[in-house]
Amino acid sequence: HGVTADEKNREAARRMPAPENDAIIEMQDVNKWFGQFHVLKDINLAVNRKERIVVCGPSGSGKSTLIRCVNRLEEHQAGKIIVDGVELTNDIKKIEQIRREVGMVFQHFNLFPHLSVLENLTLGPIWVKKEPKADAEATAMRYLERVKIPEQAHKYPGQLSGGQQQRVAIARSLCMNPKVMLFDEPTSALDPEMIKEVLDVMIELAETGMTMVVVTHEMGFARTVADRVIFMDEGEVIEQNPPEEFFHNPQSERTKSFLSQIL
Ligand code: ADP
Ligand code: MG
Repeated sequence: HGVTADEKNREAARRMPAPENDAIIEMQDVNKWFGQFHVLKDINLAVNRKERIVVCGPSGSGKSTLIRCVNRLEEHQAGKIIVDGVELTNDIKKIEQIRREVGMVFQHFNLFPHLSVLENLTLGPIWVKKEPKADAEATAMRYLERVKIPEQAHKYPGQLSGGQQQRVAIARSLCMNPKVMLFDEPTSALDPEMIKEVLDVMIELAETGMTMVVVTHEMGFARTVADRVIFMDEGEVIEQNPPEEFFHNPQSERTKSFLSQIL
């Protein structure tokens, strides 16, 4: 079966951002519970194209859950999440479509240990995007060069340092050509000397214009890269401001207290 030109046009029209709204991710009154526990409370958040957002807040405040809802690694129970014009529902087609557009980098890399670096990078493009192997490998090598480890292509993840593994994970996401990248504390499992090499890759990625949502406590990164810093506590967005304002003129007591602990 094929998709008619008419259907394609309608699909294209539907996905055009409204002129007054350039959000690639929109969360409207999003609520989520784990059993009785209310983990996300009335989250309203829009991420604009090319925007770089840093999310911070105490451990357990719901940061991971928030970004995991964006690609349906967690399911929200109330409110709307719209990614690039497509609302997240239980429709598996929509979930798959959104997952193709949203790259995710985890704290613990989540590479396939039994596959080489190159195979980790080409798996998605070959099996999900049906790219010819040679094309997928050429793309993979380009991204390995961008994260500065092309010489590691034929090694296995276990033979790499943590910083190298995380750079492989970033390259793997980029091979899927995502429209937005989510990072969940990408440097917090790394030894201090490896943090910079990963942050440098993320800074370069930001400079290419990638839309990024980064959960991190690296406030130096927030200062230099973020357009907006979001502070969460107990499942709520307490404050969101450009870094200058966020760090020098925090509004709420909870933000002040958090900043005094981490700065
Ligand atoms: P953060 O990333 O800010 O540390 P999380 O989003 O991981 O916070 O977790 C928020 C809260 O939800 C925590 O209290 C955590 O224990 C709880 N939580 C997270 N995942 C689950 C789960 N799968 N089942 C039950 N509770 C969970
Ligand atoms: Mg977390």
